Amino acid sequence: MAAETSAGAPGINGRAYSFTDHTFDVVVVGAGGSGLRAALGTAQAGLKTACVSKVFPTRSHTVAAQGGISAALGNMGEDDWRFHMYDTVKGSDWLGDQDAIEYLVRNAPAAVYELEHFGVPFSRTEEGKIYQRPFGGMTTNYGKGRAQRTCAAADRTGHAILHTLYGQSLRYACEFFIEYFAIDLIMEDGACRGIVALSMEDGTLHRFRAQKTILATGGYGRAYFSATSAHTCTGDGGGMVLRAGLPLQDMEFVQFHPTGIYGAGCLITEGARGEGGYLTNSEGERFMERYAPSAKDLASRDVVSRAMTMEIREGRGVGKAKDHIFLHLDHLDPALLHERLPGISESAKIFAGVDVTKQPIPVLPTVHYNMGGIPTNYHGEVLTKAGGDPDKVVPGLMAVGEAACVSVHGANRLGSNSLTDLVVFGRAAALRCAETTEAGANQRELAKTAGEDAIARLDRLRHAAGGSPTAKLRGEMQRVMQSNCAVFRTGEVLEEGHSKIHEVWRGADDVRVTDRSLVWNSDLIETLEFDNLILQAVATMDSALNRTESRGAHAREDFPDRDDVNWMKHSLAFVDDATKSVRLDDRPVHTYTMSNDIEYIEPKARVY
Ligand SMILES: Cc1cc2nc3c(=O)[nH]c(=O)nc-3n(C[C@H](O)[C@H](O)[C@H](O)COP(=O)(O)OP(=O)(O)OC[C@H]3O[C@@H](n4cnc5c(N)ncnc54)[C@H](O)[C@@H]3O)c2cc1C
Repeated sequence: MAAETSAGAPGINGRAYSFTDHTFDVVVVGAGGSGLRAALGTAQAGLKTACVSKVFPTRSHTVAAQGGISAALGNMGEDDWRFHMYDTVKGSDWLGDQDAIEYLVRNAPAAVYELEHFGVPFSRTEEGKIYQRPFGGMTTNYGKGRAQRTCAAADRTGHAILHTLYGQSLRYACEFFIEYFAIDLIMEDGACRGIVALSMEDGTLHRFRAQKTILATGGYGRAYFSATSAHTCTGDGGGMVLRAGLPLQDMEFVQFHPTGIYGAGCLITEGARGEGGYLTNSEGERFMERYAPSAKDLASRDVVSRAMTMEIREGRGVGKAKDHIFLHLDHLDPALLHERLPGISESAKIFAGVDVTKQPIPVLPTVHYNMGGIPTNYHGEVLTKAGGDPDKVVPGLMAVGEAACVSVHGANRLGSNSLTDLVVFGRAAALRCAETTEAGANQRELAKTAGEDAIARLDRLRHAAGGSPTAKLRGEMQRVMQSNCAVFRTGEVLEEGHSKIHEVWRGADDVRVTDRSLVWNSDLIETLEFDNLILQAVATMDSALNRTESRGAHAREDFPDRDDVNWMKHSLAFVDDATKSVRLDDRPVHTYTMSNDIEYIEPKARVY
């Protein structure tokens, strides 16, 4: 597509900015697993597709996924999508939408075979089938047996998937805009018409007009101090959605992975426990036997993280400060470690100085995944609550992957269900685009002023001359989130967190950026990212304070029980940066399935 430079471009504060304009049928923002699957699907359907990414596609955080991707293939023992559905509903602590969960688990096997045919080099069984390992919360026969459901390419599954998907997407006419930073959505009359982006390489500004915009921007783990996610996981899509006056959903549900390497935060996959690893406290006790007598070390992540935190609090942590836990792999056969867990053996050596064949790995619960995000239906269409309709589709706007909240993970995601989510809903969004979008259809001109708000914001941050460097504000935000919105929460701790995070938010008006250039200006990019993060940090804290029950990853010591009467509903947060105010609302959970092949799974106590 020949791009054109528009005349009459906006002048802001006496500075001239001009846009290069592009027109596509679909623009996908993000080139992780979900963005690439969506983009290749729309291109395959003959829709003119742009994929915009702030990092080179194969550097997206999906590359770091280790343990695997879940699907009831039954390669290594009995399995059924209904068992997978039951586990996912239970894992979600009954906050997941059961129609969407049915869509996920039923489409998972086909999605994995598709990846296999695309060329993902899965590990193999003796008979040459895709190798599957046990993962937390994954069972057979509705909790009675242990499932082997997680398909793995050693402990580098995300790497294998991402590289394969990028290769595949190049087979189709999908046009990549790499190292372009999407700044904001272009909204007209409540519909999304495209995005504004900055080319970081040369400082040019671009307007992408499209019939459909798909946000696939990943999570916002970097709102916290210690996270397993990449530094690029700054929730940019969520920030754009909030600035467009749309809500984010279930933001209080932040997953802590039990085994981040102590100090560094790098992940040791749950697959390590799937292969037989176990946790011990300072007394050498395998304490998970006390907390989850049947699933033990393979209980779901929220349960294991809380148990570890309890052990540390009660003085049974390991190390000088008794502030972490040991993960043992030293009893396993070194040949197995070499074959199935080579990546984490290397990480343990580099980041903890530990030889896993001889010593335990020091670990600590670390922020890992955001269950919350941009609300969508199972076609990937973004929803808002308006005019009494809690499931109102926002025309032109879609979201997939960790940025979205479909919601299949509800209050707690099961390990290996995210990679499935990426490819199943990436594909679903592409199918929906193919159904609802006509290739090459004439698009109305954008308003003359389209994108001006985005440029005004960019200009304001670029020339920000306050007293607080971005790094200082970001550090404050990350510390507040880490200490006041973590594994265990109380009203008191959250109240304090609420007042502190709002203080950081108000203080953000005093930000200082020192580099004024538009070319490779990391100071400016980090400021735009911080501006996205802080909105989501506030949404997370306020939603957590509001929810007076314990469910999944949200554990309130002052409200230890799940309260289905009052709280079996999704939280919505509308965040207004101009007035620094938050409006909380809610939507009903979908308590129905997609088809008649399975009945709604009634809530019950969640024990492992
Ligand atoms: C260390 C680690 C291990 C994991 N292991 C597993 C596992 O084994 N199994 C599992 O199921 N899940 C796992 N997860 C979770 C899972 O990997 C992630 O949830 C998932 O990869 C997210 O994919 P995504 O497509 O949503 O986004 P990402 O892969 O995070 O990609 C985001 C994309 O958006 C782009 N982007 C973001 N902002 C902008 C912007 N402003 N402008 C332009 N582009 C932008 C980025 O360039 C990038 O391409 C793991 C997560 C981590 C952190």
